[in-house]
Amino acid sequence: MLRSHTCGELRLSNINDNVTLCGWVQKRRDFGSMSFVDLRDRYGITQLSFNEDYDKTLVESARSLAREFVIQITGKVTERSNKNLKIPTGEVEIVVDSLKILNASLTPPFTIEDDTDGGEEIRLKYRYLDLRRNPVQSKLLVRHAANKAIRNFLNGEDFVEVETPYLIKSTPEGARDFVVPSRMNQNQFYALPQSPQTFKQLLMVSGLDRYYQVVKCFRDEDFRADRQPEFTQIDCEMTFVERDDVLKIFEQMIRQLFHESVNYDLGEIPVITYADAIETYGSDKPDMRFGMTFNNITSIAKGYNFGIFDNAESILSICAKGAASLTRKEIDAITDYVKRPQIGAKGLIYCRVNEDGSFKSSVDKFFDQEALALWAEANKAEPGDIIFVLSGDLSSTQKQLNELRLHLGDKLNLRKTNEFKACWVVDFPLLEWDEETERYHAMHHPFTSPIVEDLSLIETDPGAIRANAYDMAINGMEVGGGSIRIHDKALQQRMFDLLGFTTEEAKAQFGFLMNAFEYGAPPHGGIAFGFDRLCAILTGTDSIRDVIAFPKNNMGRDVMIDAPSPISDEQKKELGL
Ligand code: ASP
Repeated sequence: MLRSHTCGELRLSNINDNVTLCGWVQKRRDFGSMSFVDLRDRYGITQLSFNEDYDKTLVESARSLAREFVIQITGKVTERSNKNLKIPTGEVEIVVDSLKILNASLTPPFTIEDDTDGGEEIRLKYRYLDLRRNPVQSKLLVRHAANKAIRNFLNGEDFVEVETPYLIKSTPEGARDFVVPSRMNQNQFYALPQSPQTFKQLLMVSGLDRYYQVVKCFRDEDFRADRQPEFTQIDCEMTFVERDDVLKIFEQMIRQLFHESVNYDLGEIPVITYADAIETYGSDKPDMRFGMTFNNITSIAKGYNFGIFDNAESILSICAKGAASLTRKEIDAITDYVKRPQIGAKGLIYCRVNEDGSFKSSVDKFFDQEALALWAEANKAEPGDIIFVLSGDLSSTQKQLNELRLHLGDKLNLRKTNEFKACWVVDFPLLEWDEETERYHAMHHPFTSPIVEDLSLIETDPGAIRANAYDMAINGMEVGGGSIRIHDKALQQRMFDLLGFTTEEAKAQFGFLMNAFEYGAPPHGGIAFGFDRLCAILTGTDSIRDVIAFPKNNMGRDVMIDAPSPISDEQKKELGL
């Protein structure tokens, strides 16, 4: 080893030890006959001191050190007179007696410090330098701890890790595929998996019983803050299970994950139906860190000659506790927020509950105190609270009120990044009607089993069939989803029919799965968690880019290696392109 210790481990108990350290020069400070260098590695920072009175040439060479030089030193651990109690090594320093420069460094394009001066693009271009910074590196360490916790749990529960291929045929998860040309089969293409879905189901047919994989998945989608073209899933599948078995085991896994990686007790994870989630939160991934649930006041707010309400299908309200003190200006800003085209509310109505129990609303002209008392009752509003009301068609109003609720949650500091609340959402609709193509799409994927009691609706009202599917949301973000699968060939065939596949198309795309179902396919189900998103939540960051070592930018480009990039004509010819 080139070192005896790391830069994070020396303490007062090491006084007088002779040590050898290696690392990067974080900073140098010169004072008269002395020079100090902060030496950094992954484990921490240790102060080095150089004194002209002991060795003049040594101080001269120390003074040639610039930021990010890689050095090796030996010296004696000494108690510092000027202690820095903010860092664990801050009570000691090394009085250096030899210095070796292992490598010089150009001046980095941004400062390698917790608060850097570099913008995002330059940091992505020099990602290896950005990764030297503590806040960036520490996220990768949490990611590693999370990976370890998950593997420990699954290994302990008899799950077998199996690798499935990356060069496959397209799997329909609803996004575009990335395709790879085949040199040996010209004009034919592999697709990179959007998920190992069909393979993991086949592994259940093979009797593997419990499978998992920490696996890269690829989806060619337009950019969003929490999307990357390649991302990592914790992909799992189990045999001979029902929904609640799956929920139980993965609740344990997620609780263990939070416990082991960030020492947080998530508590029991509540289960809410899709219908209830939409009705009470306007979202299928509700943020459960705070209440502010929806109250439908349609029946009590109509009939007061207030045209907007009288003509609306639905009138929905929420109560922000203790927020009656919001100023007029703040309410105007909130109103502008919900009127933004992305949200699309026409306006926002409010009613304050004053300290004396009287009401002051933005529609006092139409609603007297008695009428407003009904709103307050429906919202369980008390003095000091404020009620916000939106109206229109039910589904748009729910979506808008969800945005308002989250916005208020942010404004009132109810969405703390160091607090975590998970929930399961179950009983999703099986199918979604697509106006554009005028046909049904599988809301989850075509292999998801319907809820058996709903099967009778298959001819009359397929849109009302519920899926035996479940999602997990944490802090308002979907972090996982799965389902009990169809394992019966006839039902799978029926599902493909419903989704508008002809028998030939179904056979061409999924013949292998349908065939497998004829050889004793057991009941099975599973789930996949978005590992990057989980890590983003664990580290309290908004962007999954922060928890990926080498992420793509918002155009799907890796600006460090400059990919994607053109290929040579020769390469194209070889591939038959
Ligand atoms: N393959 C699904 C997905 O990626 C998850 C699952 O159904 O297990 O969303």
